[in-house]
Amino acid sequence: MATQLRCYACGEREELPVARCRCGEPLWFDTAAAEFTYPDGKPWSMWRYGDLLPIAEPDGVLAAAGGTPLVRTPGLDEYAGCRVYIKDEAENPTGSFKDRGSAVGCTWADTMGYDAVGTVSHGNMAMSMAANAAGADLDCIVLVPADIPTARLTFIAQYDPTIVRVDGDYGQLYYEALEIGTEAEVPFINSDVPLRVAGQKTVALEICETMAPTVPDAIVLPVSSGGHASGVWKALRELQASGRIDTLPRLYCVQAAAVDPIATAYRNDSDEVEPVADAETIAYSIANPDPPSGTRILRGVRDTGGAVVSVSDESMSEAMGVLAADAGFSAEAASAAALAGLRQLTADGEIVPTEDVVAITTGTGFKEGTDVDIQTETATVSTLRDQLPALL
Ligand SMILES: *Cc1c(COP(=O)(O)O)cnc(C)c1O
Ligand SMILES: [Zn+2]
Repeated sequence: MATQLRCYACGEREELPVARCRCGEPLWFDTAAAEFTYPDGKPWSMWRYGDLLPIAEPDGVLAAAGGTPLVRTPGLDEYAGCRVYIKDEAENPTGSFKDRGSAVGCTWADTMGYDAVGTVSHGNMAMSMAANAAGADLDCIVLVPADIPTARLTFIAQYDPTIVRVDGDYGQLYYEALEIGTEAEVPFINSDVPLRVAGQKTVALEICETMAPTVPDAIVLPVSSGGHASGVWKALRELQASGRIDTLPRLYCVQAAAVDPIATAYRNDSDEVEPVADAETIAYSIANPDPPSGTRILRGVRDTGGAVVSVSDESMSEAMGVLAADAGFSAEAASAAALAGLRQLTADGEIVPTEDVVAITTGTGFKEGTDVDIQTETATVSTLRDQLPALL
């Protein structure tokens, strides 16, 4: 089990509950990756990778995180322009990949004897933390923006956390909460803290183990704070260090064009991500204008030969429709950004038609209504037999 933290940027070592390096960059766990082999005889679950995790397997809903399917989806090949695989993170207990990180964070807090955990989120992470805290019998405090829509609050509130509407600079709250939480002995499992990244990296361990001995040519995922993609990059490096993969899949990150600080820095050949103005997008789950792991993501995509792109609301909306109607997957707009980005990358020639590409669909569409055009036919019970052939 890993216990030491290290800074990817300057190499400095730290210990929990510190989350960020003195140089300003986010930390992650140092692991004994060189010795790692895929485990034999353990169930298909993120907890099979215990050798690379900072805590032992929990029970309850926390044990249900991860272990999602990776499926080949030929129905998406034409639209995407390559051979597509979907890693369906919607199949987590609260419908997004956030459960992997929340489960690790809450298990650690429980193991260390804390009574409560916290997070700063207005969407999937808040819901995920509240559910996983409930499963670990921890109190949970969720800091949401003052103007959060009521519909989204109901998803969080069902797990009965303490919900606090916070006025002021929501981006600054990420850093404030880490500090205040440490003082109050309430660990904040924010978007890209080491415990969250440790859990969320298991998605890439699962992808590579499922495809072994083949290595996917590329992995495409939506990115906001950069916590998820940091985990993917970390896992790929660990798998390379252990000899499980010999080449790194290219890592492609997709942002919403309305709020795309990491893509902007990438396009400008910059080494550092600068905050951008807040703006509206249908992909509210990937709308962080000041991503705490943005600079780490730039490093990760360049290390693997990938890229960061941004996509319009229109193209995400279209990709949502294609995912559902052509492949049977319900995705929220932010999650569909993976497919929208993939389509753009093949159009640009970054990815070629013969390549095997994994698109991570990060969150279910079941939490929001979709704006599809509804078309219905009519029939009667007594005439249906005759009508049916004409209806199909
Ligand atoms: C949180 C989230 C993301 C972005 O993940 P980061 O770790 O913040 O980059 C993408 N899609 C969905 C559905 C999410 O909930
Ligand atoms: Zn550092």
